[in-house]
Amino acid sequence: MGQWNLAETTWGLAAEQYAVAVLPVGATEAHGPHLPYATDTLQCEALARRACQLADSRGARVLCLPALPYSVCENGLGFRWTMSLRPSTLFRVVTDLVASCEAHGIPKLLLLNGHGGNEFQPHLRELCRQTSVQLMLVNWWQVDREAHARLFVAPGEHADEMETSLMLALHPDLVHLDRAGNGATRAPRFTAMQEGWAWVARPWERLTIDGTVGDPTHATAAKGAAFLEALTEKLANLLVELANSLVDDWYPYQGR
Ligand SMILES: [Zn+2]
Repeated sequence: MGQWNLAETTWGLAAEQYAVAVLPVGATEAHGPHLPYATDTLQCEALARRACQLADSRGARVLCLPALPYSVCENGLGFRWTMSLRPSTLFRVVTDLVASCEAHGIPKLLLLNGHGGNEFQPHLRELCRQTSVQLMLVNWWQVDREAHARLFVAPGEHADEMETSLMLALHPDLVHLDRAGNGATRAPRFTAMQEGWAWVARPWERLTIDGTVGDPTHATAAKGAAFLEALTEKLANLLVELANSLVDDWYPYQGR
């Protein structure tokens, strides 16, 4: 126990065998005038680290991998200095990292997605027949919908009350609430889009006023800390369960 953080572990000290690796996937993307470009990476990695530390303290052999700082932000490229990988590029990166886990004998990998533009399901459908590593996907902001509904009054999507609260809890020095707008967006001109049954890869610079979707002005550090604590507990529980689960003929289901 205690060697759960690969970035800070030396060769020879790491546990002989880990049961689960966690790969946090962040992004480098404009987050309105009030949050930093690394918001998704910082949030996702902080949650991954806290959950791995808690799971480790409960005896689970977990390994937290360093977060990927880039992912799919194609529709955000209208905002200066947003850095994007195409979906096919991200898939290749993840495929190679899964192969590295397989080479090191790690039986299970949890992909902790920290960015809404990443749609990993098609990747995992393709990868699952090509590797012995059992893959599981979690979008971190969906881990505790009940806590989300209880804590936040202005649900949004991007640089909103929830993300701003989390950053106030984690990195208050990087948050500039005095510069925040109200997160208003432009309505779709097509009824089908308004009703939600026609989809486009939304050009963020046309949809939003300043890159924000959802009003961030209700954010507080206390809400962020409470949300983080709830997420950490649930994610750590999953990691302990994963670590203790044998990859048998019925995995991930209960046997007959
Ligand atoms: Zn974000």
